[in-house]
Amino acid sequence: MDENIKWLKDKKLERTMENLEKHNMEAYYVQDENELIKKISEFTKEGETVAVGGSMTLFETGVIDYLKNGNFNFLDRYKDDISGEELKEVYRKSFFADSYFASSNAITENGELYNVDGTGNRVAAMIYGPDKVIVVVSTDKIVKDLDAAIKRNQEYSAPANAKRLNRKTPCAKVGYCMDCSSEERICNEYTLIKRQPIKGRIKVIFIDKKLGY
Ligand code: SF4
Repeated sequence: MDENIKWLKDKKLERTMENLEKHNMEAYYVQDENELIKKISEFTKEGETVAVGGSMTLFETGVIDYLKNGNFNFLDRYKDDISGEELKEVYRKSFFADSYFASSNAITENGELYNVDGTGNRVAAMIYGPDKVIVVVSTDKIVKDLDAAIKRNQEYSAPANAKRLNRKTPCAKVGYCMDCSSEERICNEYTLIKRQPIKGRIKVIFIDKKLGY
């Protein structure tokens, strides 16, 4: 990468991390998946209960495999043939997990986490319940402000997710949000985590790679 472009990217990351810290969230940077797992192992103890919010980033970085390796009590939302009732139970039990893992749809340079959920289980657990929330996020998801976060979701994350999930929504056909009234709409709970009352509860780990949606 051109060194001046790298400098710009680094300054943006630096501002974002500083502002997250000002909002009582911890911010870390890792270069690759190995460093990421090492960092996560500093925050988690073997045997503890862990749960995850739906996230491609967690799959792509190997975090899901790491959590399923038998050293943790993994509340498995991805179990084969899981029933609707079992899934609901996993979502509810996740509030009592020691550590909750998720990604974010966008993080603003002001140090805020913006997310749009279909059922709200992810944002609910991020907001309240687990004592530790570990957010793994690509540096590509840093945006200027809330307006840019909303735009990113409408033009990128949500249509891509709807397409991935094979939803019968207009965005999965045209490639941008049409604020639909579809039965299969995936955008229902819009949240902005501005600040944390408990310092360090949310730990954001940035990874310098294009990941997730
Ligand atoms: S509101 Fe509907 S059209 Fe817009 S992104 Fe969500 S699912 Fe797609």
